Amino acid sequence: MDIHFLGAAETVTGSRFLLDTGKYRILVDCGLFQGLKKLRLRNREPFPVEPSSIDAVVLTHAHLDHSGFVPALIKQRYTGKIYSTPATFDICKILLPDSGYLQEEEAGHANRHKYSRHKPAKPLYTEKDGRRALKQFESIPFNEEFMPVEGVKIKLSPNGHILGAGTVQVKQKDLRITISGDVGRPNDPVMLPPSDLEETDYLLVESTYGDRKHTTQQPQEVLKEAINSAFENKGTVIIPSFAVGRAQTILYLLSVLFKANEIPELPVYLDSPMAINATELFYRHHELHRLSEQECREIFDMVTFTRSINESKELQLSRQSKIIISASGMLTGGRVLHHLKQHLPNENNAIIFVGFQAAGTRGAKILSGCESIKIHGEYVPVKARLVNMENISAHADYTELGDWLSHLPSPPKKTFIVHGEPQAQDAFRLYLKDRLKWDVEIPSLNDIYKIKHK
Ligand SMILES: [Zn+2]
Repeated sequence: MDIHFLGAAETVTGSRFLLDTGKYRILVDCGLFQGLKKLRLRNREPFPVEPSSIDAVVLTHAHLDHSGFVPALIKQRYTGKIYSTPATFDICKILLPDSGYLQEEEAGHANRHKYSRHKPAKPLYTEKDGRRALKQFESIPFNEEFMPVEGVKIKLSPNGHILGAGTVQVKQKDLRITISGDVGRPNDPVMLPPSDLEETDYLLVESTYGDRKHTTQQPQEVLKEAINSAFENKGTVIIPSFAVGRAQTILYLLSVLFKANEIPELPVYLDSPMAINATELFYRHHELHRLSEQECREIFDMVTFTRSINESKELQLSRQSKIIISASGMLTGGRVLHHLKQHLPNENNAIIFVGFQAAGTRGAKILSGCESIKIHGEYVPVKARLVNMENISAHADYTELGDWLSHLPSPPKKTFIVHGEPQAQDAFRLYLKDRLKWDVEIPSLNDIYKIKHK
């Protein structure tokens, strides 16, 4: 069996690992490269192996850096199945068509403003392609072994990252390979802790926080303080948030604060159709998270969903104190920009950042202390109070990862560190060597590791 590291090698996006048995090829994750332009251009390069030669695709979870290349692979003649857990499939139904839509928008924008090198700019795939890709999905429940190709057994076990996210275990005769996927945290307020790893010969482990420890800050306390102070000033609180996962955690924390009378009875709006759909999935997949049916219901009772553009516009004009959760999380687009235009120029309002703000995004610029920010072609003064909420990540930090790995009954023959920036990977390599005395390697992009059969 060969392992081809086709993405998420020395970077955090573009997860793609190809297992080649000599007879069959299985692709674990099929993600988009995201972030810097240099990385995004990789999405346009020819796929390193002929897509029609791949026999099966298995997804660890629905985030686009793990699933977002699926429609492109299908456009390039991949005709096999996409195996995922039912919750991952449900989230892909939301994310993949939306991803196609955004790419069409971007290409349209590039053509209107003539900044693309390709004339005319073409989307990697369209909304229709995103929808069509869903037809090739097949749901496999957690902890159920399936055989995508003859002689290879695969099982997904929950790893606490987001709804439906799992670690992939591959077995071929007596050879065992485990791919961690993105690993969640032991004490997340909403997600269950990652399930214990089973013994394995080879391990691919993520390292997003390979050099960082989460702070001890209590997210609930930060929310409480920011909301109370905005309320005293008769202001509004805007929470830009990723639609899947983060928005639901914030809703849950708000419902806890309301119940304990820690914050005033302000109206809460979820102004993002994607986030609304994702929230409904928490109801459907209640066995995959910590919230009881009662707690889910309390969230639904607490929040007003604004689906239509008109409702969203009305909300922008209302002067009443309120809490608005809206996407996108890094202020790169979406409805949240309209709310910011209204609320950023007033110091009585607060903006709470609840996720990582990548370099170059409006979110990062605002947090770095700029005096005004360009939104829809006009400069908007930044006067509102800015609050940065930490310790709400969906990724385990290096000590949490180390604890999780340390429960393995015996060390893998070899561990590959993937899905991390170079300095995080190297720090994590040293940490695992020191703490667990493991044989650890950091693969580069397109490296092939050949496993000799016993
Ligand atoms: Zn993820």
